[in-house]
Amino acid sequence: MNKKFSNTLLYILASGFLLWHLLPLFSVGKAVAPSNKTNAEIAMNTMCYGGDLTVPTFGNPLTDPLTVDLNTRPELVATSKSLTSVDLGPYPNSGNTNGEEGWQADSYGNNSSTFDVKDNSILAIEMKNFVDGDAKWRTPQIPVKPGESLRFASEYRSNVASTSNVTFILQDGTEKYVTLSRLSATDSWKQQSTEVIVPKNVVALRFSVILDQNGWLQTKDYTVDRYITPGFSRGIVSFTFDDGWESIYKQGLPLFEQYGIKTTQFVVADYDVNEAYMSPDQIRAMQKLGHDIGSHSFSHADHEVLQDKDLAREVAGSRTVLNQKYGGTNNFAAPFGRYNQDVNDAVKQCYQSHRTTDSGFNTPGYDRYTVRVQNVEVDTKPEQIREWAEFARDNNLWLVLVYHQVEDGGAYSVDTAALESHLKAVKDTGVHTATYEEALIETYPQGR
Ligand SMILES: [Zn+2]
Repeated sequence: MNKKFSNTLLYILASGFLLWHLLPLFSVGKAVAPSNKTNAEIAMNTMCYGGDLTVPTFGNPLTDPLTVDLNTRPELVATSKSLTSVDLGPYPNSGNTNGEEGWQADSYGNNSSTFDVKDNSILAIEMKNFVDGDAKWRTPQIPVKPGESLRFASEYRSNVASTSNVTFILQDGTEKYVTLSRLSATDSWKQQSTEVIVPKNVVALRFSVILDQNGWLQTKDYTVDRYITPGFSRGIVSFTFDDGWESIYKQGLPLFEQYGIKTTQFVVADYDVNEAYMSPDQIRAMQKLGHDIGSHSFSHADHEVLQDKDLAREVAGSRTVLNQKYGGTNNFAAPFGRYNQDVNDAVKQCYQSHRTTDSGFNTPGYDRYTVRVQNVEVDTKPEQIREWAEFARDNNLWLVLVYHQVEDGGAYSVDTAALESHLKAVKDTGVHTATYEEALIETYPQGR
């Protein structure tokens, strides 16, 4: 091959390479010309990185570190003097409790569960005949103060999925369960580690790994450490809405305008043809007013049971469809809040973050693929919303609220009067409000 020819070839290759990679950049932030393909046709056979979508704000999550190790996170190294381990006392030596406040073998509901302690170190549970309920070993009660953080770690193995949880014990003695993270089945011992911030009115807590289906679960090497919660430069509250209901546009939007609050709408790519949901024009109208659009999948399927092409259509396909219509769809929220490792891996290939429905507040160093939230339901009182907002303000945390319909409806609907009382409660605290994406871009780099 002569030199001239090879230079020309290089030039052609280079131009092709540049065009291939630069063209999508020009479409960032704005919708491309509408195509006359159906949503399903567009969603089929799409991919993210290496495909038709550009890398969003924080770079390629496949090559970028996703989480920061608690021990090396700068904010925590600075406060590491206050990182103290909690003495959990000896493990129980049988399938019983160590007294009222000690380790507990706890189950409820319609199932047959057996508890066992192997070699004084492995806490085992086996469940059969599951209809409902769950079974778990609970750590002793740990006295706590609101605003402090605890890290809970343990080793586990199991033949089915389980979850790590915390039970908050409130001043009045009532208990509240909160899911911390989802754990996949594993034959070999694996470590789980989660962090929790103690909310207001909580005086003690217990950690547990919960089995809620037929199978077995073993846990060992429990550790709990306390530390001072590191904060961002300010507290932020984000209002997010799932599904893209038309009632959000009709009943909610006038209130958002009145209170000057910009929301994030996680919409379902293939729902815009159904009149219960916002039309593309309504979504664009919200976008023009400063509201942000995220993906809530292609068809609202249960992602935990999807694989391969189906999962790709929901995750990657929805981004392609939504980007063609609205542009700038960079964040994902899984339907029903259901996800596993495969779902998160797929989300990492396409989006800069994943908003879950797992309860909690976000602190510096949070994993942007398991962004925590507070779920708003029909009976959520404005006092609760105010308490969450004050907690975020006082501790400089990021609070993400999750809403659905704005009408008289099911368990996840709030009517206009309730929504207005929530917006007012947040405004009254003086905490900063921002769209989900604005808050992500402000907070995420502070923890790296
Ligand atoms: Zn949904």
